[in-house]
Amino acid sequence: MPCSYPLQMERARELTGEVATAELPARAGSRNTRVLVVEDEHDIAALIKHALERSGDVQASIVGSGDAALRAVAENPPDLIILDLNLPVLSGTEVCRILRGRPDTANLPVIMLTARTAESDRVTGLDLGADDYVTKPFSLRELSARVRAVLRRRTTMAGAKPAVYNSGRLMADFDAVAVSVDGAAIRLTRREFELLRFFVENKNRVVSRDRLLERVWGYDRFIETRSVDVHVGRLRAKLGPVGTQIETVVGLGYRFVD
Ligand code: CA
Repeated sequence: MPCSYPLQMERARELTGEVATAELPARAGSRNTRVLVVEDEHDIAALIKHALERSGDVQASIVGSGDAALRAVAENPPDLIILDLNLPVLSGTEVCRILRGRPDTANLPVIMLTARTAESDRVTGLDLGADDYVTKPFSLRELSARVRAVLRRRTTMAGAKPAVYNSGRLMADFDAVAVSVDGAAIRLTRREFELLRFFVENKNRVVSRDRLLERVWGYDRFIETRSVDVHVGRLRAKLGPVGTQIETVVGLGYRFVD
């Protein structure tokens, strides 16, 4: 009876309600979130992997150098990368620059780890399009919270309703993730794009930095409000002549003027 074993398996699954996840296609809707941890300090990498996988729905893999990270991403693109800045061979900033320059990885969520506390490093990371950064030493809880926040935003973006804003000069297609000013395409980072989306959704209303932190960053405890100003400043600069639509409301926050 060659079929009896699979049939028994089916029966067992029916009884227990168990899903044979190993048999599901790799890209099924319920698949685990794959996180690539790029860190040469193996103890730290292993701790991160352990903390992330504790939730049960994350599968983390580790590589110890920048060039290995690029190979791993090419072979099997993850859902998110935790990228240390200090790496052998190819630095984290170089890896981020390369990923952002490739169309297939331009929007891959990246959280940077840096041992350095200098603001210039963080600004460089954000400038390169990192979604977030965490300064060492960090708590695993904090890192996990940031990973969840970045992934939640990604899910929100994926499930967002089609929406287009068109002022004549500024055209933003939030479904197609395309923004242009006077017909010329503007390249925004994920965060800048979501900032713009939130501004447009709340046009002509004052939005506080705290609200932006909560709605665009997804949490309110770990990031400095100064980062909001840095991102808004960059978004404004990229929007060029229509950047003035984002007004600073002294003492309150910002207002996108339609
Ligand atoms: Ca390192």
